Amino acid sequence: MPPEKHALLSASAASRWLTCTAAPRFEEGLPESTSAYAAEGSLAHAIAELKALKKFTIMTGRTYSTRLNKLKKEPLYDPEMDKTTDLYLEHLTEQAMLYDSTPTVAVEVRVDFSEYVPEGFGTCDCVMIGGDTLSITDYKHGKGVPVAATGNPQMRLYALGALKRYAAVFGDTIKQVRMSIDQPRLNSYSTDLITVEELLDWGNSIKPIAQKAFSGLGEFVPGEHCRFCRGKAQCRARANANSALEDFKGCVPAATIQPGELVPQVHSYITPNGNEVHPLLTDAEVGDLLIRGQHLIQWYKDLEEYATKRLMDGKPIEGWKLVAGRSVRTFTDQDAAIQAVIAAGYDEALVYDRKPKTLSELEKLMGKTEFAEKIGSFVVKPLGKPTLALATDKREAYNPAASDFAGVVSE
Ligand code: SF4
Repeated sequence: MPPEKHALLSASAASRWLTCTAAPRFEEGLPESTSAYAAEGSLAHAIAELKALKKFTIMTGRTYSTRLNKLKKEPLYDPEMDKTTDLYLEHLTEQAMLYDSTPTVAVEVRVDFSEYVPEGFGTCDCVMIGGDTLSITDYKHGKGVPVAATGNPQMRLYALGALKRYAAVFGDTIKQVRMSIDQPRLNSYSTDLITVEELLDWGNSIKPIAQKAFSGLGEFVPGEHCRFCRGKAQCRARANANSALEDFKGCVPAATIQPGELVPQVHSYITPNGNEVHPLLTDAEVGDLLIRGQHLIQWYKDLEEYATKRLMDGKPIEGWKLVAGRSVRTFTDQDAAIQAVIAAGYDEALVYDRKPKTLSELEKLMGKTEFAEKIGSFVVKPLGKPTLALATDKREAYNPAASDFAGVVSE
């Protein structure tokens, strides 16, 4: 679901305010940025909603076509939206088939979870209820990073709201809640299943945190979640956290040198606070520095983006200015220029390159099914380059020995 506009503690930002309880009130006073991605997401949601309504409620073919054609005329419409929303609909149909009998289905359901989060409300893309199970599904059009449904606070808040909304009709027949996040552009479909009891316990556990975040008495806690915060460039707490590398330079313990290990004065280093330490960082220290510095680059980029915008708006940023970046020469009229080259006697074959479309472009052209059927056998996926990741990362560790024999794998 696109972010809710008016809830201070929105479900979509829950993973941020549950950790940094100061964020909501801090962000409140900062300008909201709108992006083309958000507008694209809203349009894709509107198409997804229409398809789900056609599938699960009564809608004439004519009404459906009229509304769909209108959406397709929007300037941001991309034919890919038609495919990704078809995949979403396929997944909803599969979800419905998990029930023993036809479930009750509702689309774009406004839910209220203010019992747990002050003034909390949101919209579920799709809710299904049947037997003892309530299912909610969220369509995400973005293709940044896959979002897991497991333990996802946004989904849990929606589920709490949906439970409350349908309690009057279904009473306590609902015993479990299935929460799914569909990201067809990333081929990512994630589901979590928990009991109603677990969900209510979780809801009660976050009440004091939500209260703190709402009150404005929260604490600033920087971390991975800062990347979507409106104050990410100007936040002092984040800036302080990212200066931790500076602080580290005087903190290497003198005990790092074992007696007789090195010749003093030649191979030792005296820190600013007078400690004699080994001049080489240990691997453990490298690991520690990497952990401390992991958000540094993103933070620096956010600062650059902020400063650029301020300068573009005519506001000074001390010590910095804007200059024209590198640019490349270009034709004012490429077709006319090419014709002039041919007229000058150059063969057309020398003037044009004939390039095949990329794999992704062909897949987009043909659609996933036909692509897999007709040319899937030509597709291989080489093992990716080894990439440094935190030890807690869910992916399997890269094995250099095994990779020598791995060759290629098909997807
Ligand atoms: S930038 Fe990070 S630390 Fe600062 S308010 Fe936002 S989420 Fe909290």
